[in-house]
Amino acid sequence: MKVLFLIMDGLGDLPNQVLDKKTPLEFAKAHYFKKLAKDGETGLMTTIDYGVVPGSDTAHLALFGYDPKEWYLGRGVYEALGAGIELREGDLALRANVATFKNGKILDRRAGRNGFGVKELFKEINGLEIDGVKIIAKHTVEHRGVIVLRGKDLSKEIVGNDPHKIGKIKDFEIKKGLKGKEKEKALFTIDVLRKLIETVNKKWENNSINKEREKKGLKKVNYLLLRGPGLLSKKPLSFEKKWGLKAACIAGGALYKGVAKFLGFNIYDVPGATGDTHTNLENKVKYAIEARENFVFLHIKATDSLGHDGKALEKARFIEKVDNVLKKFEIHKEFDLIFVSGDHSTPCVKREHSSDPVPLLFYGVNTRKDLGNFTETEAALGTYRVKALDILPIILDKLELAKKYGA
Ligand SMILES: [Zn+2]
Repeated sequence: MKVLFLIMDGLGDLPNQVLDKKTPLEFAKAHYFKKLAKDGETGLMTTIDYGVVPGSDTAHLALFGYDPKEWYLGRGVYEALGAGIELREGDLALRANVATFKNGKILDRRAGRNGFGVKELFKEINGLEIDGVKIIAKHTVEHRGVIVLRGKDLSKEIVGNDPHKIGKIKDFEIKKGLKGKEKEKALFTIDVLRKLIETVNKKWENNSINKEREKKGLKKVNYLLLRGPGLLSKKPLSFEKKWGLKAACIAGGALYKGVAKFLGFNIYDVPGATGDTHTNLENKVKYAIEARENFVFLHIKATDSLGHDGKALEKARFIEKVDNVLKKFEIHKEFDLIFVSGDHSTPCVKREHSSDPVPLLFYGVNTRKDLGNFTETEAALGTYRVKALDILPIILDKLELAKKYGA
């Protein structure tokens, strides 16, 4: 048995004036999704809980059947795993932006969004040791990277140094209300981080890469802004052990690869999978079809980004593009069971995530036909009103792998 688990990030939406008061999914000529819905089951899914606005990280943990209240260890953990860093228990991971700094002020939080030489600059600080803590530094894309602290007594109960606006620099802080050993650990952690920032500033300030950047008219890279602390404090039971399915991940974005890696998925690097509107959808679907695992997670990011940008028509067009590629490959003939949904809504009118339920669709073995369709409005006529944590048990039962409760 082979399952396609297709998540279009931020798929759900609200009625939009630009689309004659329809949502992008309602407006899109997505005939293939609608055909699958006609022959399958539909419904609405609340990702985390009623009124709770999900992050993509917590939402995906829930979709894979792991309660985020237990398994959300902070964004840095999943970003670092997604960047290909082999984390060990006790590691503290943070997301990093390189920035331009002068006279106590941040002039640009992203150093002009230009990644020239940034990889080398991260390499220069990789392997540093500060007070017995090893620094692992890895560049990812553009001005972004990941910093991992490896040592004893680290804490994630801290707030990063990103001021989220230009101007005066901001110091690390420990979270309020910490006591005893936890407070000591947090104080030690921010002490190491302060020393790291100082070292970075000194090492990078007059670096040859900055001279080259200057010649090219690029902004100086001489500061690190760190946020999203996460501590790998424990490791979950793997997806395969928990659900009995071997899992594959096909995604462009590092965060999704990171969540999947955390749960022991096999991660495919698909050529041209960029996580934006220009992503190579055909390659991603081809890889999904060819994957030998029996649970294939296929993630598509651009629906969310277009929601954040408020581009309703583009979001509808992009959904049509996905629909066309799936139709072209006739995926309903390639998988025994297909699940399609989003990880949350990202309404174009809000340009942010929301708690509005997301339409879902099941097609394949042991599904009924219901009256719903794969749109926000018509999915309400369908079979399901569920939360994300319910999805894997439903899939298992459709695959006839669920254990009977009672006799
Ligand atoms: Zn998301």
